[in-house]
Amino acid sequence: MTASANKQTKHIFVTGGVVSSLGKGLTSASIGMLLEHRGLHVRLQKFDPYINVDPGTMDPYQHGEVYVLDDGTETDLDLGHYERFTNAPLTRDCNYTTGRIYGSVITKERKGVYQGQTVQVIPHVTDEIKSAVRKLAGDDVDVVITEIGGTVGDIEGLPFLEAIRQFALDVGKNNCLYIHLTLVPYLKAAQEAKTKPTQHSVEQLRRIGIQPDVLICRTEHKLMPEMRDKIAMFCNVEPRAVIEERDKEFSIYEVPLSLVENRLDELIVEKLGLRAQQLDMNGWNAMVQRIINPAHETTIAVVGKYIKHRDAYKSIYESLDHAGIALSTRVVVRRIEAEEVEREGAEKVLGGVDGVLVPGGFNYRGLGGKIEAIRYAREKQIPFFGICLGLQCAAIEFARNVVGLEDANSTEMNPHCAHPVVCLLDAQFSITDLGGTMRLGSWPCHLAEGSRVRAAYGSESVRERHRHRYEFNNQYRQQFAAHGMMFSGTSPDGKLVEMIELPEHPWFVAVQCHPEFRSKPTQAHPLFRGFVEASLKRREAKKKAEAARSRAAIPVSN
Ligand code: GLN
Repeated sequence: MTASANKQTKHIFVTGGVVSSLGKGLTSASIGMLLEHRGLHVRLQKFDPYINVDPGTMDPYQHGEVYVLDDGTETDLDLGHYERFTNAPLTRDCNYTTGRIYGSVITKERKGVYQGQTVQVIPHVTDEIKSAVRKLAGDDVDVVITEIGGTVGDIEGLPFLEAIRQFALDVGKNNCLYIHLTLVPYLKAAQEAKTKPTQHSVEQLRRIGIQPDVLICRTEHKLMPEMRDKIAMFCNVEPRAVIEERDKEFSIYEVPLSLVENRLDELIVEKLGLRAQQLDMNGWNAMVQRIINPAHETTIAVVGKYIKHRDAYKSIYESLDHAGIALSTRVVVRRIEAEEVEREGAEKVLGGVDGVLVPGGFNYRGLGGKIEAIRYAREKQIPFFGICLGLQCAAIEFARNVVGLEDANSTEMNPHCAHPVVCLLDAQFSITDLGGTMRLGSWPCHLAEGSRVRAAYGSESVRERHRHRYEFNNQYRQQFAAHGMMFSGTSPDGKLVEMIELPEHPWFVAVQCHPEFRSKPTQAHPLFRGFVEASLKRREAKKKAEAARSRAAIPVSN
């Protein structure tokens, strides 16, 4: 990275109030994106006040997707937004939890680093938090954006808020900007937007000693000037620093546009005294236009176990959208509980879809449904994309239904099966801890000549991110190959199976990695693009065939 135009790294702290799930991550990512579009070098990080050391051990039902970085850190899904919106490099330094902060304070205490002092929240824990913020600053960084997870008023968030309050004392108030995201609810009965929750939440922040500089107000309706003035007056901020962030009709990628309409980028640049270029949003605007006015449509079934949680497969849904953007196509996602396929049968649940995707997951619940969905896609020539557990299920399905190995399974599901086509390798055998011990992070992969994946990537070697314990069992390679399965991606030494495909099928590709962590709205991932393109082809062919049928049904008079 080149040196920044500004001598000192500036800091933006993003907090949230009133309710959770307001979209602080999206807003932080959007701010980062706007600053990058003004030529600034940005870094982003998130503090999560919960006690788990990282979200890796958390149930996706509670926490949504676990997002994995190149360096193997298992992080909060908001970091996915950061990567999709910006080019900021993300590392282990970009996501801290209370557990991790306390972990390092306790380790230091045991080592005697505190030299006999009583170790306390202030200053020891807050110092640890501040040093985590400082880690991202540097000569090549103009702005560090630090998002504080949770909602102002949460007990567990207090040390983080205290630390960012102190931070301005350490580096000077003119080098810090506090942005608070709040909700301005619209009460139907009163036919009025209400500012009181925002006032209360800012009051909580001020009690801790933080006066926000900017308020971003999530609202369903337009924020009227009198509302803006009222919020400004009660919350002690300038009226122009009360920014409306209205709910978006089409896509999350519209969020930065509404912030620009409210001149947020100008305000930040001015308040932090940054030297920055003019804003150039042409590329982003063109991308959003393609979302709003798609030329085609295709329907993809995502068959998984955590379907009910909106965010459990967040990056997969986003990656499908990115492929849609690249192909001017609206991708309609049908979220299907794997157990529903077991109950109702594949034909009933999947009939009419143009593509089937089986995402990652753990344990046996829904396994039968996933395998049945894959069988259906393979036999009916419906484009199929398997990811991580999706590849493992595809291997089990192929073993059982094509190779004829009836009791084929993964040892994760049945340790005593007759044919363990997916199993633990030596490296995983002796591991007892659950946290941070899977095959994680970026791994190289060699792509076979003549394979679909090599054509899609346009390259013979790639790197993709991983998060799994189990692997394809090499003992079954020959048998699979003899029945038409191509091992199209392997580790460079050929020992690990990373991608498989069926050359005779329109698109049957499964990968052990998680390509969804490397897709961007402006740069769709080649495998998602290939899969959606194949699904679209099937849709268009079906449409043509239907049109021909209905033409043939019209009696011709002469
Ligand atoms: N449960 C499987 C494994 O650990 C797959 C993991 C995943 O899909 N991320 O290997």
